[in-house]
Parts: sequence; structure tokens; C-alpha cells
Amino acid sequence: MVQEYEIVVIGAGPAGLSAGIFVARQRASCLVISKDLGGQLNLIPKLENYPGMMMSSGPLLAKTLENQYLMLKGEITFDTVEKIDETESGLKVKTTRSEYLAKSVVLAPGRVPNNLGLENESMFSNKGVHYCTKCDAPFYQGRTTATVGVGGYLLESGILLSRMAAKVYMIYKGGGLGGDKDMIESIKKKENIELVPNTSIKSISGTTSLQQITLLDNSGMEKTVDVDGLFIEMGSKINLDFVKHLVQLNASGEIEVSGGGKTTHPAIFAAGDATHIPYKQIVAACGDGASAGLSAFNYAEKLKGKHGIRADWKKTIGDTVFHY
Ligand SMILES: Cc1cc2nc3c(=O)[nH]c(=O)nc-3n(C[C@H](O)[C@H](O)[C@H](O)COP(=O)(O)OP(=O)(O)OC[C@H]3O[C@@H](n4cnc5c(N)ncnc54)[C@H](O)[C@@H]3O)c2cc1C
Repeated sequence: MVQEYEIVVIGAGPAGLSAGIFVARQRASCLVISKDLGGQLNLIPKLENYPGMMMSSGPLLAKTLENQYLMLKGEITFDTVEKIDETESGLKVKTTRSEYLAKSVVLAPGRVPNNLGLENESMFSNKGVHYCTKCDAPFYQGRTTATVGVGGYLLESGILLSRMAAKVYMIYKGGGLGGDKDMIESIKKKENIELVPNTSIKSISGTTSLQQITLLDNSGMEKTVDVDGLFIEMGSKINLDFVKHLVQLNASGEIEVSGGGKTTHPAIFAAGDATHIPYKQIVAACGDGASAGLSAFNYAEKLKGKHGIRADWKKTIGDTVFHY
């Protein structure tokens, strides 16, 4: 049987969990559907810029947000959303294992790091192949590493690895490094970094974990290098195939949103890194998630002929007027 909720939120990163908290607190029925808990928060072992917390970690923040949401009687299921369709009774959210009906949907599917598309890349993921230098560089203390990527991602990766690893190959397709000049100067001074320009990675190999990478330069020359770890820093992508027929995306494939997380579909709201907002950071995702959640709640309330929540709250308790 198809389960019905007033609001379904897609994604349990900071945007989706914040949306869920604000919906559940209004005692509306809310389901968060997500592939995992935390999204990109899982890539942040040390979190320094979340206001109100001196020091935290991404996974700890994710667990705290989830607990807060569950305490407010929100529901969560770990599954993948494959398609959203319009039906006469609302939006049908099809997942790998089930189907749900919702009056309104909040999209918060975030982003995932890009891979290189090598044949056996996924086999070596977390077995020598990493997509988050910040998170995993400490595993490579005194070992041989390589990093491949673009722009500032590559520069940062090289610098972080050079602090830990004995050797860092920095591999890039162009003739020179691009990005922040101070970072480039600092990289050139590091004795344990070897720059490998005009080169791409042709293949990777190993037994139970990564052992070698084969490089291909612009002249067609191949060279195989022994490495313990390969860090892939190619930016990130958004996958909105499940909803792109319903909402407008911009040229970068991000969801276009206006105030309150409105999309071009009246019943669908969005927040976080999958939207076109600048400064893609956790606190922004949380704030926009809260707004999108309340907008979705208001939409569902209006369908019932109710007023919903005003953008400028005012409540009188006893003799006191509270403004929120
Ligand atoms: C390495 C790294 C370090 C960072 N460090 C910081 C930092 O120090 N401070 C800071 O403020 N920000 C930092 N950020 C950015 C921050 O993590 C993001 O801005 C934030 O996580 C975005 O939140 P989100 O909820 O929009 O998306 P995400 O965190 O990406 O979460 C999206 C969620 O949606 C789920 N999902 C996606 N598609 C589907 C689907 N089809 N079905 C079901 N579920 C789906 C995902 O599994 C995931 O759980 C960092 C990012 C990275 C990659």
C-alpha cells in the first residue's frame, strides 16, 4: 500500500534534516527519505564554522539533527528516490523499495564528489582511492600518494597531503596549476610534491587495495607509479534526474529557487547544495532547509483551507507578545 505523508523531504543532509525538524515541529506528518544520514557532513571530521558550536564534526552534527527530528516525531527511511510524478492525489515519490504520496515535497539531495570514471575505480573506493583529502589524508602519514583534480580542489589537496605523506604526485591535464597564486607558490616550495603536468590517469590497479596508477601524458607516453593512495578532487555533481521534468534547473544543473525555497513547481520546494544559492555551506543549507520546510508546510495547509504560518510570527501567551 502506498504510504501518505503531508510532506516528504528528499535528503538527510543538513538542508533536509533542518526542513524535517521545522515541518515535524508543526506536527505535520513528515517523512525524510535519504540514501544515507548526513550526506557531505560525513566528509567533515572537524567542523569549525557552524555558528553556536566551538568545535564539532560533520557526523556528530548529522546525528544531532536526526535525533532532534525524531524527537519531534518525524519519520526517516534510508532509500533512494528514483522518480517523482504528479498524480491527482498529490506527488508520488517512487523509491527503490517503495512508493509514497505527499502533498508537498522538499528537495535537498545535495551533491556528490565527481569520480574519474576509471574502470575499477569504485572497487578501490576507500581502499586507496579517496574523494575527500581533508577527511582521509591523515591515513597516509609517511606514505606515497597522488592527487588528481581541478583548480582550487587540487591545490588544497596537494597542500594537505604534503603535510602528511612522504611523497605527493600532483597530476593535472594542463601545462600549469590554476588557482590561488599564494597556494601555487607554497606548493612549488614543498620538497615532497612532484608536479606532473599535461597528464591524466589511464588506469589504476592493485590486489585488495590500490597499489599502482598508470599515467598517460599528452605525447602518449605511459608511466606506471607505485602509490598507496590516490585522491580524486574533481569537484562535485548533482543528480536531479528523478525530478528534472518537474522543476527548472539552471545551466549548471542546479535547482532554481526563489524566496522560501520556491521552485517552479508550486508543490515542490528546495534547499541546500542542489540549489543555485551561493556560499554552499552547512549553516546556509540549514537556514534554507528551515525556510523550504515551512513553505512546504504552508502549501499543505493551504490545500486544507488553513492559513499556515506567517513569515513574521507573532504569538501572544498570557500578557506577553512573542515575535519570532
Ligand atoms: C569535503 C567537504 C568539506 C566541507 N567542509 C565544510 C565546512 O567545514 N563547513 C561548512 O559549512 N560546509 C562544509 N562543506 C559543505 C557542506 O558539507 C555542504 O554545504 C552541505 O553538506 C550541504 O548540505 P545539503 O543538505 O544540501 O546536501 P548534502 O550534505 O550533500 O546531503 C544530501 C543528502 O541527500 C541524499 N540524496 C541525494 N540524492 C538522493 C536520492 N535520489 N534519494 C535519496 N536521497 C538522496 C544524500 O544521500 C545526502 O544524504 C564541506 C563539503 C565537503 C565535500
